[in-house]
Amino acid sequence: MQELSWPEVKESMAAGRTTAVFACGAVEQHGPHLPTGTDDYLGTAIAERAARIAGNALVAPTIRPGLSEHHMWFPGSFTLRPSTFVALIEDYCESLARHGFERIVIFPSHGGNADTLRAQAPLLARAFHGRVDVSVWLRGDLMRRSAELLAPLGVTAGAAGAHAGFTETSMMLQYQPSLVHMEDAEPGRSDEEFYRPENVARSQMESFLYGIQTQSPNGILGDPVGSTAKAGDDLLELAAQALAEELRRASVFTTDKPVDVPVV
Ligand SMILES: [Zn+2]
Repeated sequence: MQELSWPEVKESMAAGRTTAVFACGAVEQHGPHLPTGTDDYLGTAIAERAARIAGNALVAPTIRPGLSEHHMWFPGSFTLRPSTFVALIEDYCESLARHGFERIVIFPSHGGNADTLRAQAPLLARAFHGRVDVSVWLRGDLMRRSAELLAPLGVTAGAAGAHAGFTETSMMLQYQPSLVHMEDAEPGRSDEEFYRPENVARSQMESFLYGIQTQSPNGILGDPVGSTAKAGDDLLELAAQALAEELRRASVFTTDKPVDVPVV
């Protein structure tokens, strides 16, 4: 949307692109080899691909800074108060509603935003009910499907990582190669134990309390060494296809039904 003129946005909506999609990213450290804007770039990349595949959506600007308190030990990281983050999303939805979009799909391209988005989803849906259908896409089972894609390449869960590892580095090599410094890529926290599903919630809570630097001094969770643009292209395509599926899915809302059930 931000690369179009207003008549182009208007024409595009008239041609049926009445869904708006946007990512909630982050500006935070991504190790010594990736730019701090990684989650902004990757959110935009996935939204753009998905909108092209689905054909019914326009991409609203990615919300660049996010909830990154656990990265603040590292210079170049920004964090928003959760109330600021939520207010930004509400104002985005209000702007899009005023222009007549019928549906808004919001997704996190930064893990630290996911819990807040999950909690806000029913509140946003209710607040805009009858004007625009707002929903949050929490990436479904994309983690598992990405792991399946990477396993034949010999990339383990520990290498794929959760932050600036093989997965994110490969996608950045595809989308913004000039900003990736592979000569500075080095392993971070990449032991398999750390990434076992039963340990994830605990290690996340540890990072929120003490900071990512206590888990990985270079800021990397994973191992970016050996990342390739080809793997990145496949990973971006997987994510975009999953988001496109969500964009094409019929809305869960019916505008003639009153909302009177309290949100618990
Ligand atoms: Zn990231």
